[in-house]
Amino acid sequence: MKDLIIIGAGPAGLTAAIYGMRAGIDLIVLEKFSPGGQVINTYEVENYPGFADPVPGWDLVSAMENQARRLGAEFATAEVASVVKDEWDNAFTVTLADGGPLRAKTVIAASGASLRKIGVPGEDHFFGRGVSYCATCDGAFYKDRVTAVIGGGDTALEEAHFLTRFSSKVYLIHRRNEFRGMKILQERVLSSEKIVPVLESIPVSINGESKVESISVSNVRTGDKTTISVDGVFVFIGYTPNASYIPPTLLNKNGEVVVDMQMRTAVRGLFAAGDIRSESKRQIVMACADGATAALNAYEEIVG
Ligand code: NAP
Repeated sequence: MKDLIIIGAGPAGLTAAIYGMRAGIDLIVLEKFSPGGQVINTYEVENYPGFADPVPGWDLVSAMENQARRLGAEFATAEVASVVKDEWDNAFTVTLADGGPLRAKTVIAASGASLRKIGVPGEDHFFGRGVSYCATCDGAFYKDRVTAVIGGGDTALEEAHFLTRFSSKVYLIHRRNEFRGMKILQERVLSSEKIVPVLESIPVSINGESKVESISVSNVRTGDKTTISVDGVFVFIGYTPNASYIPPTLLNKNGEVVVDMQMRTAVRGLFAAGDIRSESKRQIVMACADGATAALNAYEEIVG
């Protein structure tokens, strides 16, 4: 029986592990892929305090992982299928997708969120052949080529700007006539000669033979359809929480785990931290703070 199982090794889970180890509790971090979370796909992080210059996302999260490992945190690669609180001893059974159950006195769900798809014809078909969800990973394939970015939030604006390092032109396709993203990012994007905003437009199909050749968009006001020649399409339209293993009664209508300010769910001993939780602002620094809060409260629960 562990004191604490942390599900997910992004900034929230890694910070929970750092705080848990420093509190002297016996914990394990379960991660489906490799540690890092969404931050590893971020080319540069400019708003994490403590770095005068932008820090590569990979470097930032690797430092968090190394810190947790130095403190002795145990990691395992595993996908969690369910988390159930057992009434007979008030501990949790964490069932893994391909292995036996683990048991713990407390659990922190910190498995983050995944990028949403637009759901138009061609999106799945051309995935890896022109459709991408990661500019840091795939941007360099589009040197001197034309790309399109879908979305109007911080991610779409940041990634569109990043793509101008490679692409000759970036169409920024957004469904409204104003962007949701921060003013500083809007100014950056709108002052770029390479970025062409295509506003009040939604994608209807991604087209091509063996790879992406164009994207068709529909104007939301007039219904007019236009087809734009592009070599690549990058989709950044928000996230879906990775909460399939959490009992549905603990989720809100957006699929996020409902917590109070102490990161407590309605089930005593079960906490949620970072992008998986309700009302998250989806900032790295806040995910870290959530992880610390959850771990300190888990510690109090363990020691009684
Ligand atoms: P987001 O803020 O939810 O924005 C999603 C964008 O996609 C919105 O512009 C939305 O349009 C559009 N959209 C949603 N569904 C769509 C659909 N089906 N078809 C077409 N467009 C669609 O997501 P995000 O930009 O990924 O950001 C998520 C969170 O992370 C935010 O809280 C953000 O502040 C944070 N973040 C912060 C930073 C940073 O601080 N540097 C960087 C990245 C992300 P509408 O505007 O019309 O709703």
